Amino acid sequence: MNDMKRLYLTETLARVLIQHALDAAPLETCGILTGIGDQVREVLPVRNTAAAPRHFYRLDERQFVSAVFEAEKRGLSLLGFYHSHPDGEPIPSPVDVAQAAYPDMPYLIVGLKNQTPRLAAWTIRYGQVGPVDVFVGLPGTPAHNTKPPFTRTHRAAILLSGLLAFIIMIILSLTLLPPAPVILTPLP
Ligand SMILES: [Zn+2]
Repeated sequence: MNDMKRLYLTETLARVLIQHALDAAPLETCGILTGIGDQVREVLPVRNTAAAPRHFYRLDERQFVSAVFEAEKRGLSLLGFYHSHPDGEPIPSPVDVAQAAYPDMPYLIVGLKNQTPRLAAWTIRYGQVGPVDVFVGLPGTPAHNTKPPFTRTHRAAILLSGLLAFIIMIILSLTLLPPAPVILTPLP
């Protein structure tokens, strides 16, 4: 809340992101953004290992860790995550919200609804979704903000996502509980 997150992307990187999303459609693509400060320098795709990649994404853990490690060798750090919604708006889905494990990282989404690519980024802190300003262009020059104009419907969708995510988190935590001990009654 106090520090509004922002991300700067060059036009080339924004085009690369959109191209990754288009190439992967109808599946979701995913990966990481690396750079310095709030300047994205690289868009690194990571394999989507979700069981249903048309509707979900899950970064291949090993590829993710090694991509971050390699980027750090080049002096770049992890700045955020990205994935696509092949037929949706760039708004976090309830599952996106429930699974977001990095409260301080921007989650950038490429939405391809109606063949109109749109980018938006969000912070997802324990079920709370907040907008991140995404600027395409060079910092210090008149960059255009890509934040889509959010209507009342969008805001309602975000609130609903948060609510559903909360429910999903409860379900997930229940399914992750160890099974109840089997009580054996001793034979007489
Ligand atoms: Zn998503």
